[in-house]
Amino acid sequence: MSHRVTLILGDGIGPEVVLAAKRVLEATGAAIEWEQVQAGAEMLARCGTPLPDEVVESVRRTGVALKGPVTTPVASGFRSVNVGLRVALDLYANVRPVRTLPGVPGRYARVDLVIFREATEDVYAGKERWVDEDTAETVKVITRKGSERIARAAMEFARREGRRQVTCGHKANIMKLTDGLFLDCARQVARDYPEIEFDDRIIDALCMQLVMAPESFDVLLLPNLYGDIVSDLASGLAGGLGLAPGANIGDEIAVFEPVHGSAPELAGRGIANPIATILSGAMMLRHLEEAERAAAVEAAVTKVLAEGRVLTPDLGGNATTDKMADAIIAALPT
Ligand code: NAD
Repeated sequence: MSHRVTLILGDGIGPEVVLAAKRVLEATGAAIEWEQVQAGAEMLARCGTPLPDEVVESVRRTGVALKGPVTTPVASGFRSVNVGLRVALDLYANVRPVRTLPGVPGRYARVDLVIFREATEDVYAGKERWVDEDTAETVKVITRKGSERIARAAMEFARREGRRQVTCGHKANIMKLTDGLFLDCARQVARDYPEIEFDDRIIDALCMQLVMAPESFDVLLLPNLYGDIVSDLASGLAGGLGLAPGANIGDEIAVFEPVHGSAPELAGRGIANPIATILSGAMMLRHLEEAERAAAVEAAVTKVLAEGRVLTPDLGGNATTDKMADAIIAALPT
């Protein structure tokens, strides 16, 4: 069966890693018809908005997208396209698996975490204002509906995948109402899953324990901001951002993208690691019920990393993005 998928190249290293991932996915034999659209600063200049309606409409139509990172200006300029897309399409579950892979140098022998980050609420609503010229404030929004559905997504995943434990990270000792509500909803939802151990940690202690003993955690359930920070921290435990895939999942629509950003300092040099986007593509294939092809991509990535001959500079080698994709394609089972 042929799948229609929206392709958003992004900017910075986005086009390089997305086109490399596209080649790998096509090499599995999956029949994909791509609808290519673009978002970001280039679109702002061309059509007055960084997130044109045609992008949102295309993803609504296809229900599935593979997306590259998009640059967001710091401290001024347009609102994040990534946040805008998640909110417009109600992609509330940002799912980010982090696993040690063979051959990748790192401090830990075994990391196997899956982060469930709520992706539509918290301080990302962009509700900020100047109170006076020396004071700015932002609004943090946490709702029962938003908290319950991400908690249920994490618990359902744990049940389906035979995971033993879900840990909720929060700061409910300080933000008693907002983080208190998030934790309370998580605890209530967890009662429906007695076979899964549920616990919670204050977010600062969780970060320390993740660095000391990542193997003692399994699935992490986090509100938006802590989830964003902990995702990068966790990817650093297992080889860095070049290897960390992700998915933004709603009830009807899913957008797959690497955890990393547009890495402007690497853009145009052809040396970005494409594996995070390739593994995001494998997550997409699984979502499209192409489990065998997804497993083939993951096995090929594992093989290339274990051999250690073709590695991009972030992994200590000198291969280009395209050479890495070529090696992964060559390692696909025939
Ligand atoms: P970044 O993730 O782009 O880069 C952080 C570090 O990781 C840099 O040292 C970079 O060189 C390295 N890195 C990232 N991806 C890599 C890859 N594939 N291969 C090798 N090294 C890689 O984070 P940043 O520099 O904080 O952000 C840059 C821009 O990206 C910002 O505008 C930010 O808003 C945006 N961003 C977008 C997304 C998204 O589109 N979902 C996510 C995060 C950041």
